[in-house]
Amino acid sequence: LFITLEGGDGSGKTTVMGRVAAYLQNRSMPYRITREPGGVEIAEKIRSIILDPAHTAMDARTEALLYAAARSQHLAEVVEPALKEGLTVLCDRFIDSSLVYQGYARGLGMEEVYAINRFAVGTRMPDLTFYLDVDPEVGLSRIAANQNREMNRLDMESLDFHQKVREGYQQVIHAYPDRIVVLDANRPVHMVEQDIVRTLEERVLK
Ligand code: C5P
Ligand code: MG
Repeated sequence: LFITLEGGDGSGKTTVMGRVAAYLQNRSMPYRITREPGGVEIAEKIRSIILDPAHTAMDARTEALLYAAARSQHLAEVVEPALKEGLTVLCDRFIDSSLVYQGYARGLGMEEVYAINRFAVGTRMPDLTFYLDVDPEVGLSRIAANQNREMNRLDMESLDFHQKVREGYQQVIHAYPDRIVVLDANRPVHMVEQDIVRTLEERVLK
């Protein structure tokens, strides 16, 4: 089972992910937890190129291709082998992030970005996706308050960019209504976690 977590910056993905992992552990469900872009050495190197605050000249198409490259490496090295072993794979971001950030917010076009990602992932798509829907102002204030978070190039984007990200996600949700479960992430993390656990119990563990 391939489960992904999506959401704007500051939506709480990383925190929620840790909690969901603890839940799977308690249920003795074998799982593998990972993230994008990154998850393996080659992809983490690509991630650092993409997110380096010094790389202000990065072209949007270059960015989209690098994300797709990191994705195919991570898929080949981590996700596919884990799924083959029968593990539940929980991944922080996947293809939807590219459709939204590069396709919609950067204006490359969702169809175009889908096409390069289709090349990167083959037929692999998540079985289930949780979208953490956060008001960009709430998300940005969480980021500002989090001292431990590593700064990245995207932190220089305006509120307007993050509004676009949210609009982009609305479109993706519309395109994949059965796969994507929308959660109100303006609430405290433990409430989001409860919703995820309930959905897993209904859809996966039943
Ligand atoms: O998942 P995380 O929030 O750590 O992602 C790192 C950064 O990469 C974020 O600022 C996110 O907005 C950005 N990103 C992006 N395009 C993607 C995936 C992530 O701009 N396809
Ligand atoms: Mg995160």
